[in-house]
Amino acid sequence: MVSGDSAPISSKCPKCGHSRVVSYSRSDLNERLRTGEAIEVMCITCSETWSLADKEREAVAQGLKRLIEQRVELGPEKKSTRSSNARRPRGGHRGGRG
Ligand SMILES: [Zn+2]
Repeated sequence: MVSGDSAPISSKCPKCGHSRVVSYSRSDLNERLRTGEAIEVMCITCSETWSLADKEREAVAQGLKRLIEQRVELGPEKKSTRSSNARRPRGGHRGGRG
């Protein structure tokens, strides 16, 4: 199951020449890139549907790769291991009075 993992894709409409953005889920994109299935974009103004060109597909693939890599690099580079060695006094002198 994909939980809100979407990747926006923009492509120019062959009819009106405006950039249209559609969002696919990342897993869906990955699948399409792998299988070679068309990634379709739709222009609501012209109600035109077209599929991404090879170049655009490549760009999408690169973008996806980056996304995945970013996820790894998001964390702090330096690994600071805070060792919490709490020393406990053992068998010290007790102030027992009385
Ligand atoms: Zn259009």
